[in-house]
Amino acid sequence: MAAPTRSIIDTRADQMFPMLDPAEIDRMRRFGEVRHFEVDDALSHVGQVGLGVSVVLAGAVEITRRNQAGRSEPVVTHLPGAFMGELAQLSGRPSLVDAHARKPVDVLVIPPDRLRALLIAEAELGERIMRALILRRVGLLETGAGGPVIIGPPDNGDVLRLASFLRRNGHPHAQLDPATDAEAKALMERHHVEPAELPVVLCPGEELLRNPTEIELARCIGLVSPLDPDRVYDVAVVGAGPAGLATAVYAASEGLSVVVLDCRSFGGQAGASARIENYLGFPTGITGIALMARAYNQAQKFGAEIVIPAEAAVLESEGNGGAPRFTLRLGDDQRVRACSLVIASGARYRRLAVDNIADYEASSVHFWASPVEAKLCAGQEVALIGAGNSAGQATVYLASRVAKVWMLVRGPSLAASMSRYLIERIEGLPNVEVLTSTAISGLEGENGVLQAVRWRTRGAEVRRPIRHLFNFIGADPNTDWLAGSGIALDAKGFIVTGANGGAPLQTSRPGIFAIGDVRAGSVKRVAAAVGEGAQVVATLHAYLADTGREPIVVGGAGAAAGGTMRGVPK
Ligand SMILES: Cc1cc2nc3c(=O)[nH]c(=O)nc-3n(C[C@H](O)[C@H](O)[C@H](O)COP(=O)(O)OP(=O)(O)OC[C@H]3O[C@@H](n4cnc5c(N)ncnc54)[C@H](O)[C@@H]3O)c2cc1C
Repeated sequence: MAAPTRSIIDTRADQMFPMLDPAEIDRMRRFGEVRHFEVDDALSHVGQVGLGVSVVLAGAVEITRRNQAGRSEPVVTHLPGAFMGELAQLSGRPSLVDAHARKPVDVLVIPPDRLRALLIAEAELGERIMRALILRRVGLLETGAGGPVIIGPPDNGDVLRLASFLRRNGHPHAQLDPATDAEAKALMERHHVEPAELPVVLCPGEELLRNPTEIELARCIGLVSPLDPDRVYDVAVVGAGPAGLATAVYAASEGLSVVVLDCRSFGGQAGASARIENYLGFPTGITGIALMARAYNQAQKFGAEIVIPAEAAVLESEGNGGAPRFTLRLGDDQRVRACSLVIASGARYRRLAVDNIADYEASSVHFWASPVEAKLCAGQEVALIGAGNSAGQATVYLASRVAKVWMLVRGPSLAASMSRYLIERIEGLPNVEVLTSTAISGLEGENGVLQAVRWRTRGAEVRRPIRHLFNFIGADPNTDWLAGSGIALDAKGFIVTGANGGAPLQTSRPGIFAIGDVRAGSVKRVAAAVGEGAQVVATLHAYLADTGREPIVVGGAGAAAGGTMRGVPK
C-alpha cells in the first residue's frame, strides 16, 4: 500500500509557525499598532480583507479553515510570540482563513504596506516571516481551503479553464464532480443549480457564479480590486512572465512605483514549464510555477502592484507639453497611467493548421502540460506535437503520468531543436514513441471531445484512439494589441528595439521599452528574459531622469522605514 502523503504542516511546522522572541517583537513595534480583542471576537473572516499580519502579544487566537462543505476545521492556535497571516496579507487581499480570540487577546497589527517595509528593513526576521507566509499558502493550496469551489464534470472545458486560472495564480480552490460527489449534489440543490448550468463556482461568502469569466471569478474572490484611474505610476509593465516580473523586482526595489498587468497568470510561458533545468542556481531543476511564484512574491514584497487578470487592450499617449505619459486601456474598460512603459507580453503557441482543431480546444487540445491536464489524461495514450525544449519537457513530464506519449515531429530528428539532455531522457523512456517526418492529418470527435487522432508518417496514415493532444509548436508574439500604436514591429510581429541610435531596449517610441520573448532578436530563454528585465530598469532610470524626474536614492533610509525613496510629483 502506498504511504499516505504527508501534509506540509507535518513536515515543516516549525518554519510555518515560528515563534518570535521578545527582542524581535520589540523591533517590530514601529511597524504596527497594538489592538485588543475580547473572547470570541473575530480577527479575520474568510473572504474579507483582514487587518494584516498580527503578532500575538497576549492571549490565544484560533485559526480555522473551511472545508468544501463550508465546515470549519482547526489549523493552529497562536499563543504569545506567534503571528497570524499568510500571503494574502502581503498585498491586502481577502483572508483565506478565519481567526477568533479564544482568550482576551492583545495583538500587534502590521498592515500590508508596513509589512512590506518590515520585510525589507529586517532582513533575517523578514526571511523567516516571508517563508512562513509562503508555507502557509502552500498548506492552504494542499487542501483548497478558503478558496472557491468549482462544481462541474472534471473534463468540461470551462471547469478546466477555471481550475487552471486558479492554479496558475497560486489560489486555493476545490473541485467537485456532481457525478461522484454527494457534496456537489447537495450544493447544487441548495443553490437551485440545474445540470445544464454547470459549471458553477461557489465563492467564499456564498456568492454563486454561473460559468464565470476569469475576471468575474477574480473579482469575486478579491484577487483584483478597482484600479485608481488617476494615479500615474513611474512604470507600467505589460506581462508578468519572467521578463515583466524581473522588471518589477528591480524597479520596485530601486524605488520606482510599478504596476504590472497580466491577462492570464503570473509566470508566462515559464510558468508552463514542467521543469526548468538550465536556469542558473538551480542544479536540481525547478518547476516553472515554483520559480515564477517566488518571483511574484518577491515583486510584491518590494511593493510592485500586480493586477491579474488585466489585459492591455489599447495604448494611448497623453501629450501634455512635457514628457509623454502613457495610458493603457484595459479589456474591462479600466485604465492605467504611467510615465514609462515596459512591454513584456511575450509569445504564445501557434495553433496547429488542422481545420477543426478549434472544436476541441476547450477540453482536448492543450497548450500546457501541468498537473491539471495530467490528471485528465492519467493512464491514457496522448499525442504531442513539437520538437523544441518545451515539447521535450512536456513529454518527459507526461510520460510519468500517462500510458503512452506519441511524440509527433515534423522534421527528420529532434537534434536540431532540442537540448541533448532532453533527447537522452526521452530516449530512456519506454512509454514514449518519437515519430519523425510525421504530421497530423485529421482530428475526430464529438461534442468538443476528441476521440481519435490521425497522422501521416512516411507515406502511411495512422489512426489512434486518442482523447488528448498537446500542442507545442513555434510561438507568435503577443503584439496584436499594439495595432495602431506606432510601435515598429518586424515582419513576424516582434517589437524592434534600439533602432536609429535609440537605447538598446527602447522601441521606436521614446519612453516605451520592450523586453523578453516579444522583442525582435531576443534569446528565447528564462535567463535572457530576466536579464533584460534587470537591464531595462537602468534604462528607465536614465529616461525618467532625462524627462526631469527627481534622482533616485537606492537603499536610502527611506527604504528601511518603508517610506518613499523617490518623491515623484504626480
Ligand atoms: C513549456 C515551456 C517550457 C520552457 N522551458 C524553458 C526552460 O527550461 N528554460 C528556458 O530558459 N526557457 C524555457 N522556456 C522559454 C521561456 O519560458 C520563455 O523564453 C520566457 O518565459 C519568456 O519570458 P517573457 O516574460 O518574455 O514572456 P512570457 O513568458 O511569454 O510572458 C508574457 C506574459 O505576458 C502576458 N500578456 C500577453 N499579452 C498581454 C496583454 N495584452 N496584456 C496583459 N498581459 C499580456 C501573458 O499572459 C504572459 O503571462 C519554456 C517555454 C515553454 C512554453
